[in-house]
Amino acid sequence: MNYENSSDYAVELDRQDSLKQFQDSFYFPHNAKNQKHIYLCGNSLGLQTKSTRKWVSEILDGWEFRAVKGHFTGPHPWLAFHELLTEKLASVVGAHSMEVVAMNSLTVNLHLMMVSFYRPTVERNKILIEAKAFSSDVYAVSSQIRFHGFEPETSLIVAYPRQGEINIRTEDLLALIESEGDTISLILFPGVQYFTGQAFDMAKITEAGHKKGCIVGFDLAHAAGNLLLKLHDWDVDFAVWCSYKYLNAGPGAVAACFVHERYSLQFDLPRFTGWWGHDKSSRFQMPDQFCVLPGAEGWQISNPPILSMAPLLASLEQFDKAGMPALRAKSEKLTAYLDFLLRQQCDDKITIITPATSDDRGAQLSLILAGEIQQWKKVHEKLTQAGVVCDWREPNVMRVAPVPLYNRFIEVFDFVKLLQSIL
Ligand SMILES: *Cc1c(COP(=O)(O)O)cnc(C)c1O
Repeated sequence: MNYENSSDYAVELDRQDSLKQFQDSFYFPHNAKNQKHIYLCGNSLGLQTKSTRKWVSEILDGWEFRAVKGHFTGPHPWLAFHELLTEKLASVVGAHSMEVVAMNSLTVNLHLMMVSFYRPTVERNKILIEAKAFSSDVYAVSSQIRFHGFEPETSLIVAYPRQGEINIRTEDLLALIESEGDTISLILFPGVQYFTGQAFDMAKITEAGHKKGCIVGFDLAHAAGNLLLKLHDWDVDFAVWCSYKYLNAGPGAVAACFVHERYSLQFDLPRFTGWWGHDKSSRFQMPDQFCVLPGAEGWQISNPPILSMAPLLASLEQFDKAGMPALRAKSEKLTAYLDFLLRQQCDDKITIITPATSDDRGAQLSLILAGEIQQWKKVHEKLTQAGVVCDWREPNVMRVAPVPLYNRFIEVFDFVKLLQSIL
C-alpha cells in the first residue's frame, strides 16, 4: 500500500473507513478549552463506550428498586449476568462459548490457571517466558515456582532476542522450545509484548510446545480486542486477559480467561474452588460436596462484580457490531500509516522498535528517541500539553496506539505532524 503524507489523504482514508461511525460511540477526553484530545493510549486504558452509563444505571436501578430480588428479576438478572458476556467475549478471542468466562482480574486468573496447568515435576518444572516480561507476570510465575518448592533461578527460563536486537525471532524461540522443551512444564507468552509491541506467532508456539509435551498459555492483556485471535483452533491450553485496555471496560474492570474445550470435562484437574464454580442447579442448596461446572465457568470462585461487568458488556456490544476481522483490517492500515508517517517525518530522530510487518505487531508502535532521556521526557510532556495522550514507559519508550474502533487516520496524521514540530 502506498500512503501519502498529506491531511487531505488522511481525511480521504477516514471517508472510506467503514468503521468510522464507531468513534461516535465513545467519549474522548477534552482539554480545558473543550478541545478533544488525540487519544492514542487505548493500549493502556480504553475509552468509555457511551452506552456504559445506561448499563451501569440499570444495575444501580435494580439494586435501588429491587435490591436482593435483582439476582433473579429485572431485565437482566444478576445471577446470569456474566453469561451475557460469554458469546461476545468468545468471538473476540476466537473461542467456543464454553471456553471463556469473565471473572476476577488478570493476575488472579493467571494464578488460577497455573494452579491447574503448572504442575511441575522433578524432571519437568520450568516455566518459559519472554525477556522483559510484564512485572506482574514475572512475580506470578516466580511465586508459583517457589510455591511448588523450586527456585526461579533454575526453573524460570527466559527467551531473549539476539545480541543487538530488540525483538525475539520466532525461529529462535521455536529452537529454544525444541532444545529445552523436555524440562519445560509451562510456556507462558504474551500475544503482544507490552513494551516492544511485538506480536508472537501463537499458533506456532503452541504447536512447538505441545510437540514437546509442554502446556502453552498466553497472556493476552495487549492482544484481546487487538489481534485476530483463534485460541480454539490454535489449540491453546489457556489464556488470560484484562479488559480495561483494548476492551474498553474501564479501570480495574473484570478480566477473563480461556480454557480449551478439551479440559471442559476434566473434573479431576486440580483447581481452587468456590461456590460459583459449582453446578448451577444445586448451588443454592449449598451441598458440602463440590460439583464442578463444565467448561471455563468451572474456574469461577466467587459471585462476580456485576457493576464491573456492565461496562464490559457495553463495550463488547460495539465489538460485536464491528467484528474483529474488520477491526483488525483497519488496524493494520492505521498502524501502517502511523509507521509510514513516522519514517517520513521523524526518521532521523526516532527508532520504531516494534516490528515493521503487520503480522508481527498489533495496534501499538513503541518508539525510542535518539539523544538524552531527559529530552525525550520533555517531548512527551510537550505532546501532552498539546493535547496528545500516549504513554511513556521507563526507561525510554513512548508507546503510541491508534485503536481501530475509535481512532481516525487524521488523528494519526496530526500526531506525527505535532511530534515532528516538537522534535
Ligand atoms: C496490563 C497487564 C497486566 C495487568 O495485570 P492486572 O492483574 O490487570 O493488574 C498484567 N500483565 C500484562 C502483560 C499486562 O499487559
